[in-house]
Amino acid sequence: MGILEVKNVGKRFGGLQALGDVNLSVAENSVHAIIGPNGAGKSTLLNCLVGKLIPDTGSVMFDGQSVLGRTPYEINQMGISRVFQTPEIFADLTVMENMMIPCFAKRDGAFKLNGIKSVESEAEIRDRAEAMMEDMNLAEKRHMHAASMSRGDKRRLEIAMCLAQEPRLLLLDEPTAGMARADTNNTIDLLKEIKQKRDITIVIIEHDMHVVFSLAERITVLAQGTPLVEDVPSKIKGHPKVREAYLGE
Ligand code: ADP
Ligand code: MG
Repeated sequence: MGILEVKNVGKRFGGLQALGDVNLSVAENSVHAIIGPNGAGKSTLLNCLVGKLIPDTGSVMFDGQSVLGRTPYEINQMGISRVFQTPEIFADLTVMENMMIPCFAKRDGAFKLNGIKSVESEAEIRDRAEAMMEDMNLAEKRHMHAASMSRGDKRRLEIAMCLAQEPRLLLLDEPTAGMARADTNNTIDLLKEIKQKRDITIVIIEHDMHVVFSLAERITVLAQGTPLVEDVPSKIKGHPKVREAYLGE
């Protein structure tokens, strides 16, 4: 049993079958990539995992519990955090102020959902934000406005904000899209470091094969809403079905 178990998930938009019959098992503490041509259904699948979309069929289990029927907020509180294609940070706030937000949310979320009243003070929350900035090499930029950061650093901040919620599963939808090579390489190094330092499962949707092959332990290839192949990276490279999906050969 993986930490994430997707069974027979289907999703239709009007006449378009965006997801056919998706089965996916993600092992705990692994990095699992989902690749596939544009329009394959990758983002739709991710949206079904975080409660942004409700699948028409099938089930999605996280750590033995169904995520279906729960709100994105509740799913987030279960331990799933998501990084969007465009960094979702507060441009007008400083790095420090951005980091405080998920730290507050973590404290107050536990109260909202379970009635567990945390006694964590604002000073303690500030310490938690500081520690995360140190850990993520953002401490020197703590007073910088998020808007003036490089693309790679904005992504770093957004990922740090996700990690401050202490998720067990981190979902990334094309985290290096539109990035220059240097920022892409920084993001690869950052994700590797995150994996080394903590127990976390990462599911990454990615277009850039350099990123995929640098990080993934297993790869699922999605085409027209259906998984074509799932295997280790060395078996995916040059796989005839993958070439067919990408090149129409
Ligand atoms: P990918 O992320 O692999 O590029 P998507 O999951 O975004 O693919 O899209 C899969 C298919 O579903 C595409 O044909 C897309 O146009 C369609 N689609 C995605 N979201 C919607 C929506 N909200 N309404 C209608 N069609 C959608
Ligand atoms: Mg997409």
